[in-house]
Amino acid sequence: KARNPGEPEFLQAVQEVAADIMPFVEANPKYRDAKILERLTEPDRIVSFRVCWQDDKGDVQVNRGFRIQANNAIGPYKGGLRFHPSVTQSVLKFLAFEQIFKNSLTGLPMGGGKGGADFDPKGKSAAEVMRFCQSFMTELYRHVGHDTDVPAGDIGVGGREIGYMFGQYKRITNNFTGVLTGKGLEYGGSEMRPEATGYGAVYFMEDMLHTKGEQIEGKTAVISGSGNVATHAAEKVNHRGGKVLTLSDSAGFIYDPDGIDLEKIEWVKELKNVRRGRISEYAEHFPGAEYHQGKRPWGVAADLALPCATQNEIDLEDAKTLLANGCKAVAEGANMPTSLDGVHAFLEAGVLFGPAKAANAGGVAMSGLEMSQNSARRALSSEELRDLLRSIMDGIHKRCYEAGLQGDGFCNYVKGANIAGFKKVGDAMLAFGVV
Ligand code: NDP
Repeated sequence: KARNPGEPEFLQAVQEVAADIMPFVEANPKYRDAKILERLTEPDRIVSFRVCWQDDKGDVQVNRGFRIQANNAIGPYKGGLRFHPSVTQSVLKFLAFEQIFKNSLTGLPMGGGKGGADFDPKGKSAAEVMRFCQSFMTELYRHVGHDTDVPAGDIGVGGREIGYMFGQYKRITNNFTGVLTGKGLEYGGSEMRPEATGYGAVYFMEDMLHTKGEQIEGKTAVISGSGNVATHAAEKVNHRGGKVLTLSDSAGFIYDPDGIDLEKIEWVKELKNVRRGRISEYAEHFPGAEYHQGKRPWGVAADLALPCATQNEIDLEDAKTLLANGCKAVAEGANMPTSLDGVHAFLEAGVLFGPAKAANAGGVAMSGLEMSQNSARRALSSEELRDLLRSIMDGIHKRCYEAGLQGDGFCNYVKGANIAGFKKVGDAMLAFGVV
């Protein structure tokens, strides 16, 4: 705490991981003696920089950009860029820290990193977003590279922003390399990347349910968010015969008792990605749907919950409400959407709880496959990639299950994910000696 003042999100993430890892480290003194956990809590480096750009009126704007290179013991730094006014060093340090374990869990050779800026893309013209992205990359380019650090998208950074940044990187360096993932298909992107996080979270949910002999078919689901992760999670729940009841954005949520089917999801994608509108418009467009301003969707009774918007969107009260309404399983599509006491409530109630670093690892796994496709200069088909995603998510589930299964038959996936992710990185760090 003394070393990281004013960084509550980072401390929260470290606290959660340390609670699971400490007993494991005590039982395996090689990690304790080499201070592996302490080393992991100190990023390899943090780059913070000024991003200066001009808005459409010609006024000068100043934002702060970051890249946190947390750990590259098992591969180049890898993790998304977030553009949102809530971005701080603490938020990005928590995300980069989590990313180390998540990337390790995928089984692919990727280290952990994260970055972004306190820039708010909402209400900005495409030209303003482009100028911001170009200015951001004008500094970032010297810290990244296809074998060094490969950023991707995150909140506020989708295909459009990746395009602007890739274009600027290429222009400055005169190199066409896979320095970013989440690229357009025309210039080195991978099929299935947009779908991967949301689909992967539902595959993980399915794997958890299978351990209890259950499936998604016939079950209801509450989902938060209406961005990339949420819409694709909603799509896959539909594919599996489940019924999606809610979606949300930062202003409120919509509840559609008839179910948000594939056609309605396409409408939401167009609303959010093309028209850049608000989810409230859903209730105006689809009769029977309700809009709840300023609220989160956790009060709607459902079998399954998939938080897919942002951090700390399920607090203890929300967790208790979900449990009281009979929620059987939670898979975190967003990063750290459940507060620490909320996580404990789910675990104590014995429901299936898939933590973010396992459940939402499908996105970064597909990014890893985008990197290998770029290196090989060969594009795989959607079918091949869907099968690979499925098997990677099954592998993640298996590693978490084996490390998290308790004597009483309950699987603590949070603990399982932390230990399985830690072990691989820790062993690599041991091999390097004191560095
Ligand atoms: P998008 O920007 O596509 O969508 C984010 C969604 O969350 C939007 O509906 C947004 O609403 C809502 N949201 C953002 N901030 C808040 C807030 N403070 N309170 C309530 N709602 C909010 O992002 P993604 O779907 O890509 O990311 C969602 C989550 O998933 C994040 O936690 C991200 O880190 C995580 N994630 C994403 C991956 C990916 O592949 N994209 C990979 C792994 C994790 P609004 O439109 O009003 O801003």
